[in-house]
Amino acid sequence: MPEQQLTEEQAELLQEKIKNMSPEELAEFQKSQCIFCQILNDKIPSKKVYEDNVCIATLDIAPASKGHLLLIPREHYAVMPQVPDQTLGHLIVIAKRLSQIMLKYLKVTGTNIFVANGAAAGQRVQHFFLHLIPRKEGDQVLDLNEKIIEKEMVTKVKTAVEGKLLDLLGIKKEKIKEKSMGEMNEEPKEKITKKTTKKQQKKGESDDADLDNIANLFK
Ligand SMILES: [Zn+2]
Repeated sequence: MPEQQLTEEQAELLQEKIKNMSPEELAEFQKSQCIFCQILNDKIPSKKVYEDNVCIATLDIAPASKGHLLLIPREHYAVMPQVPDQTLGHLIVIAKRLSQIMLKYLKVTGTNIFVANGAAAGQRVQHFFLHLIPRKEGDQVLDLNEKIIEKEMVTKVKTAVEGKLLDLLGIKKEKIKEKSMGEMNEEPKEKITKKTTKKQQKKGESDDADLDNIANLFK
C-alpha cells in the first residue's frame, strides 16, 4: 500500500489533508488510490474476460483455483452496504451466469461466490467486488476450519437478535407470517423501501444507523 512507504511526517500531512477534504474530494482521492479503479480506467493491465456498463470480470492474478474470477463494479464502493440495490442485483445476475458458464465449460462441479467485507474478513482492496471460484470435489480450496462456538454463546446471539432484526430492517413481522417464501420474493421492492423510509422518518434514523444497530448486536 502507498501509505506504508510514507515517512511519519508525510503520513501526518496526508491525514490532515484527508480530514479537510469535502466528501467529493475524498471520493476522488479514494479512487486515485484504488488499484481496481486503475484497472477499470485501463491504467493497470488486467485479464478482463467480461465487461458491461456496470461491471467487469477479470481473472484473479493469485487464483484460488483455475478460472477464479473477480467481478468488479465500475463505481467505487468500499463495502457491500454502500452498493446500490440495483447494482448489486446486476452483479448477482452476472455472477449467476458466469457461474453457469464455469459449471458447463471448466469441468468443475461447483462454484463459490463470496464477498469479503472489511479487513477483518480478508478484504485487501478497498473496492467492493465478488469472488467467483470454480470448485471440484475434494480440491480443498477455501476449506474453512470449523470453529466450535459454545452453545451458550449461540443462544445469547439468538436472544440478542430475536425479534429485533425485522424491526431494524423495517419489515413488519405479520407480513412475513402472512406470505410464503415464494410470495415474499415477488413482493415489489418499492413496497419494502417505502415502509422502511416511513419508519425511518418516524424514528429519524437512516440506513446507516440501522446497519450499525445490527452490527452492535454481535459485539
Ligand atoms: Zn476503486
